[in-house]
Amino acid sequence: MEKLLTNKQAILGRIAKACELAGRSPSSVRLIWVSKTQSVSAVEAAIALGARDFGENRVQEALEKFLPQREGISCRIIGPVQKNKLRKAVQVAQAIDSVADLESMLKLEALCEEADKNLEVLFQVNASEEDTKSGLSMQEAFNFLTSLPEPKRLIYKGLMTIGKNTGKPEDSRVCFAFLRDLRDGIFNSQPKFKHFTELSMGMTDDLEIAIAEGATMVRVGTALFGSRIAILST
Ligand SMILES: *Cc1c(COP(=O)(O)O)cnc(C)c1O
Repeated sequence: MEKLLTNKQAILGRIAKACELAGRSPSSVRLIWVSKTQSVSAVEAAIALGARDFGENRVQEALEKFLPQREGISCRIIGPVQKNKLRKAVQVAQAIDSVADLESMLKLEALCEEADKNLEVLFQVNASEEDTKSGLSMQEAFNFLTSLPEPKRLIYKGLMTIGKNTGKPEDSRVCFAFLRDLRDGIFNSQPKFKHFTELSMGMTDDLEIAIAEGATMVRVGTALFGSRIAILST
């Protein structure tokens, strides 16, 4: 708990500094606490310290930690979801940030209709073009997005990406800049994208670069909760 508080303060400090350098208000960047592999008690401790938005990359883990839902606390799914897990994802999540194919999107639309709920979606783009990462390719993203049907229960909120995994945060800048330009282009393209304002990018190592390039959400795991058990980390 002590450690979590120190870590939280350090991260808020980094976010504030990066915002200042970018001439942005710190309130324009939301901190997503990536609690994957962490325990329920770690989540409770984070909530006690003011955490409101959590990110999980596995639906099963999200169910264990975020049902029943707590007032004011949101769980975002930030990893790819198998089609047979979408129903459960809709039960637990306020947002799915990793949508990257039409079939899943249509299925989510139907499931939300059935559950009588609205769901925010971000579309994941593989802007680092690393084979190990999922998401829309940079080439296909614009056409894919502008061809989407009018949303009903879904709210098209924006884009998500993971920076380059080179060990040098600066290498991710081009990915983040690409994502921002794509977001701007989509936002201005059609009325169905009137809520398309979010850019989820930046993690423990590269959040400063992401904020400089316009991130509205940074997803931080390690720098808050400490390192994950190697076997479970992705
Ligand atoms: C694990 C994960 C994070 C958090 O990464 P850290 O480097 O631990 O901050 C962010 N986004 C996604 C999609 C992840 O899977």
